[in-house]
Amino acid sequence: MKPPRTLRTTKENVKKDLREPSGPLWLMGLLYLLGIVTLVSCSRGTDAQPTVVVPPQVEARITPPTPPEVAVPDAAPLPHIDSKRAFQYTREVTAFGPRYMGSENHKKLERYIIDHLKGDEVEDDAFTADTVEGKFPVRNLIAKFPGTKDGIIVIFGHYDTNYPLRNTGYVGANDGGSSTAILLEYANQLRGKKRDGCSVWLVWTDGEEAVKTWTDTDSVYGARHLAEKWEKDGTLKKIKALMVMDMIADADLNIDRNTKGAPWLLDLIYAAAERGGYQSHFYARQAPIEDDHVPFFNRGVPSADVIDLDYGYNNVFHHTPQDTMDKLSPKSLEIVGDTILESIRMLDQR
Ligand SMILES: [Zn+2]
Repeated sequence: MKPPRTLRTTKENVKKDLREPSGPLWLMGLLYLLGIVTLVSCSRGTDAQPTVVVPPQVEARITPPTPPEVAVPDAAPLPHIDSKRAFQYTREVTAFGPRYMGSENHKKLERYIIDHLKGDEVEDDAFTADTVEGKFPVRNLIAKFPGTKDGIIVIFGHYDTNYPLRNTGYVGANDGGSSTAILLEYANQLRGKKRDGCSVWLVWTDGEEAVKTWTDTDSVYGARHLAEKWEKDGTLKKIKALMVMDMIADADLNIDRNTKGAPWLLDLIYAAAERGGYQSHFYARQAPIEDDHVPFFNRGVPSADVIDLDYGYNNVFHHTPQDTMDKLSPKSLEIVGDTILESIRMLDQR
């Protein structure tokens, strides 16, 4: 239970102040005189009725506003994902092999995700991307879990792997696998429950990776398409927060503070991590990192990229055939998975 915030009465506070004086004598004297005046003025209304119940709206008026970062202790239970199940999804996704845009394995994975979302509200956002390597089919998959409050919390996770690495044996267990899997687990967590909060949209984004070399125009194809579409249809204005999950299963987990993000949202995620006792895995390093959130960040949408770009010593496993299941841990999925679930709960309350 949340401990009640009681403001007993101003009178009591004044009395307490007078009982425990501190400071020079002349100041104490002055405070004492002021105290009597306040005491008298406060007593006037309360003498007739000794037990005064302060109605909540009165309390709100006389209590100075509390900044969110020092909010009252929150005793709500911490949400938990099923990390074993999420790890199993990572294994299954990775087992499809290379999943670059336009490939057969990519199609198989689309089917796998859609099968997982049976009974959920799913929107298909498919289009053709014109790239330096030719035309590619791109398909974002959006699962919508409506809430009772205004606003949408959007969670992104890309499911494609790199086209340039298609013949290297690269399977992207962490980069592409873990992000696909955590969203599948989130769908389990959200399904069939009435959301007493904002709507949550899970988006399996496509074409996050560059088809040749990362530039503004050769990267985040699916996210750029969605940002344009949502800008036109007014969805963008309804987004309360957008969080990208990427490379989140490294056994040696160090989530970066990606400075390309809304500081208040980054702080909220850190506070959520602290609630779980996970803060040692967050923000030891900070850097501006480009990811699926950039087209939204550039349009002023409160965004955060939850990423560990320190994958192996000096990031040696990133975008190499060494990005395999043996480098990953269900515990890391749990740390990030629980933290972002908790962030969603905290966002609901804002
Ligand atoms: Zn990547």
